[in-house]
Amino acid sequence: MNKIGNFREGNEDRLPVPVYGNSPTYQMALKQLESVAECAGVDAGIINRLAIPKRAIVVSIPIRMDDGSLQVFSGYRVQHSLTSGPSKGGLRYHPSVDLGEVAALSMWMSWKCGIMNLPFGGGKGGIACDPELLSLGEKERLTRRFTEEILCVIGPRMDVMAPDLGTDEQTMAWIMDTYSMKVGYACPEIVTGKPVEIGGCLGRREATGRGVTFCILEALKELAIAPQDSTAIVQGFGNVGSVTCLELVKKGMRVVGVGDRHGSLYNPQGIDVVALQQHIAGGKPLVSFPGGKPIDNSELLTMPCTVLVPAALERVITAKNATELKCKILAEAANGPTTPEADPILLAKNIFIIPDILCNAGGVTVSYFEWVQDIQQFLWSEEQVNQKLQELMLKAYARVRETAREKKITMRMAALTLGVQKVAREKIHRGLYP
Ligand code: NAD
Repeated sequence: MNKIGNFREGNEDRLPVPVYGNSPTYQMALKQLESVAECAGVDAGIINRLAIPKRAIVVSIPIRMDDGSLQVFSGYRVQHSLTSGPSKGGLRYHPSVDLGEVAALSMWMSWKCGIMNLPFGGGKGGIACDPELLSLGEKERLTRRFTEEILCVIGPRMDVMAPDLGTDEQTMAWIMDTYSMKVGYACPEIVTGKPVEIGGCLGRREATGRGVTFCILEALKELAIAPQDSTAIVQGFGNVGSVTCLELVKKGMRVVGVGDRHGSLYNPQGIDVVALQQHIAGGKPLVSFPGGKPIDNSELLTMPCTVLVPAALERVITAKNATELKCKILAEAANGPTTPEADPILLAKNIFIIPDILCNAGGVTVSYFEWVQDIQQFLWSEEQVNQKLQELMLKAYARVRETAREKKITMRMAALTLGVQKVAREKIHRGLYP
């Protein structure tokens, strides 16, 4: 296996560990890169370049809280690659956010844009905070101040943010407004995933969940299982999780389990996900929904189902619980939900994995459509957006599947191979600077 140079543990004679080196999520991304290096046939020097993001910025964000006190938050933006266009990726609000996590997520964004052939490099950002404990006004002040602090590295041709865990259309609207006030004109192309009224794209909010559903239907087809005969369990009922549930039900599947940060529900007859969504929109907790039996969050992932969809956090499927999984398909809607140690266990159990960088690529794909529309000031219909999304997702799925078959490798290795090769080719064409 190709050892990535300079900063692996136990290599004290090499260069010092960069600041993100100790994060388990960054270590996981490096491990994946190491394991794919040989199979992708990419030069070791290029692999070393891909292992370290192009640049990262850490900012302190002091804001006035509603009670008059002052709190200082830490914010991060990492641009993994700027070789083929602006860096592109979400902004995450979560207590676990740190520089290493954001660096790993930015790396995965690069591979994802590579698989989808989008003219972007990977980027990611985040603020270490608990959005559930912040008022709307506090979130607005946090977002606007963060945007001010990173103004020097963002721009429609430099770095374009989008919603991720804990952020939404409103967050993007505040960023768009803060940036537009600086440049002196409305600049919708600075972010994607914003409200439609200020340049957002029809279908963007649903895009990730729709893309996940297209991939699941392809996998079911291959395993000769009819959607009507299959069940799904979805961890996370936010943007990606809830839309995936709704889309799967539309295709005839039964969602038998769902969960969020505070608890999980199980109902072998199927959960009425439309009613659940209304229940949550009414301000009630997911676990208080009467249409299912409350179960432990850890139990949710190991209940029997045809398709398991982690749509919340990374590293939730580990060597510890992988042996307990009882699904046929693992559709990775979240980024990095499966650790490298869990992968061989799942392989031995014959679980078909749709890897994250393919499975959730619908989001960045429609973000690309949004960016193009904003730049051209020419709007597409929702039908056009959905059709084009389906076309690109199915083509990408087929490319990954074909590579896996040809090279006799797993779907994850195939997806990583295509993504890493694309970014490597960009670097080779342009040279050492970008
Ligand atoms: P979100 O904030 O809208 O929803 C997150 C959901 O996960 C919430 O229901 C939350 O309660 C739940 N959750 C949080 N911690 C949990 C825990 N410990 N156990 C169980 N559930 C937990 O976020 P989202 O935008 O839906 O993103 C979810 C995942 O999908 C993330 O990994 C994100 O990076 C990835 N993703 C999102 C997009 C997008 O377009 N939003 C695109 C690609 C990938």
